[in-house]
Amino acid sequence: MSGVPTHWYNIAVDLPKPLPPPMDPYEGESRIALLNRIMPSELLHQEFTSLMYVPIPDEVREIYMRLGRPTPLRRARGLEKLIGNGVKIYYKFEGALPGGSHKLNTAVPQVYYASKDGAKEVATETGAGQWGLAVSIAAALIGIKAVVFMTKSSYLSKRQRVMFMRTYGAMVYPSPSEVTKYGVEAVKANPNHPGSLGLAISEAIDYVLQGEGRRYIPGSVLEFVLMHQTVIGQEAINQIPEEPDLVVGCVGGGSNFAGLTYPFIGAKLRGEGFEKTRFLAVESKAAPKLTQGRYEYDFPDSGGLLPMIRMLTLGHNYVPPPSHAAGLRYHGAAPSLSLLVKEGVVETRAYTQEEALEAGVLFARSEGIIPAPESSHAIRAVIDEARRMPKGSVILFNLSGHGLLDPDAYEKVNAS
Ligand SMILES: *Cc1c(COP(=O)(O)O)cnc(C)c1O
Repeated sequence: MSGVPTHWYNIAVDLPKPLPPPMDPYEGESRIALLNRIMPSELLHQEFTSLMYVPIPDEVREIYMRLGRPTPLRRARGLEKLIGNGVKIYYKFEGALPGGSHKLNTAVPQVYYASKDGAKEVATETGAGQWGLAVSIAAALIGIKAVVFMTKSSYLSKRQRVMFMRTYGAMVYPSPSEVTKYGVEAVKANPNHPGSLGLAISEAIDYVLQGEGRRYIPGSVLEFVLMHQTVIGQEAINQIPEEPDLVVGCVGGGSNFAGLTYPFIGAKLRGEGFEKTRFLAVESKAAPKLTQGRYEYDFPDSGGLLPMIRMLTLGHNYVPPPSHAAGLRYHGAAPSLSLLVKEGVVETRAYTQEEALEAGVLFARSEGIIPAPESSHAIRAVIDEARRMPKGSVILFNLSGHGLLDPDAYEKVNAS
């Protein structure tokens, strides 16, 4: 018994309403047909599966263990003392994984399934670099090459992450690059193009189409990404000694939130426990799709190359203002999470990065861990909620990452 789950949990089977499937837009080429050409076949299969529990391949499970799963579940006694009203706070520490975030939980199976398809390379996009770093680590362990298109502005400002990706053996291109037609066109139109996530996705897809033995793997809101993360919540259910009254996570596309909460929510929806547990999804005011978005079919990528999905969205052309919580600067939320919000199963809250980082500093000083700016949004909600809850209440939250690769975020806090 290692404590690492043997299956991923698929919430689609327990949702109060059927999950609206991905769709092609009315005009243009079929995006679903394109995905079939470029993505690992098993991942597409998982996107539409009706299995409740999908087996984790032994090789993937073994890598999870080598990387440090199960991750620790800890009691935040320092933070509890600071709040001082007898509310108990537990957190799952995904920052304990190499790379410092939960993203490896899906990078490992995605790279694994690419290798099972016979691929020699995986290509992907990355904004701030957390996803690119996770893919680089997974590709190194599985023994294939990672090619990462990183938005140029981040490539120039986040040198440490570029260097670490290269240390793991990845090929990292600033996007726009010179190796795809989209990159070349973008630079022709604007020699100082700063790059965008949408452009980086287009470049990664074009790179895959140009050669043999290449697969594209997405870091974004597809349902299989959320499903891979459910190892977090299944472990937490085994580790936590008491039933939580409130479970909290931050939301970029929804994967770390879903990873922690879905196993709890599924049990609640099936009437198998956690009847009184509330679930709170916390977003950034820079990208407030949960609190202000519209529920409609939209593209998950700003380039419109991927199939449309029904979700809470600010529109795929929405450009969030700059924020240190780069992982939360995303225009939409995964279809299953959007549906759970619409149905009132999941509550929502938005904070500014200043509000979040202030809570991040309190957490660092009371627990000893510098949290990722993204995770600090969850911590802010935990503190605000705890203050209003009666003595003896229990809160669980996801510390999705540490902030040791985000010195610029804390530099700003310390200057103010
Ligand atoms: C990427 C990231 C997020 C946001 O992405 P989700 O898919 O919503 O989980 C949150 N926290 C950290 C540390 C991240 O790296």
